[in-house]
Amino acid sequence: MIKLIKVGKYSWKPMFICDYCNEPITEDGDVEFKVDPATGGPMTGISFHLHKECDYKFCSAHGSRADWAWEDLSVFLRLLAQNTHVKPETAMTWNEMLGIEAEE
Ligand SMILES: [Zn+2]
Repeated sequence: MIKLIKVGKYSWKPMFICDYCNEPITEDGDVEFKVDPATGGPMTGISFHLHKECDYKFCSAHGSRADWAWEDLSVFLRLLAQNTHVKPETAMTWNEMLGIEAEE
């Protein structure tokens, strides 16, 4: 899931929270989604965000591994930005206007 984390009186940051252990994902992660048994392809619906080490445990707790398909979190982020037509330079401009600094 994506959750807003408050970091100051008037500021916050969006974070991916692992849908298995409920801890922030601060390094590499995976995105899991159900496989449609009729087609064998991805089913339209909810995506689940996971630490790589929580991925297998999440899938095992919710059916078998064969019920799930996955994508690397970095690919998911690129596709999300692409589908919203967000331009990196526009995001940088807004960040500068609002005084938001990205974490290194
Ligand atoms: Zn986790």
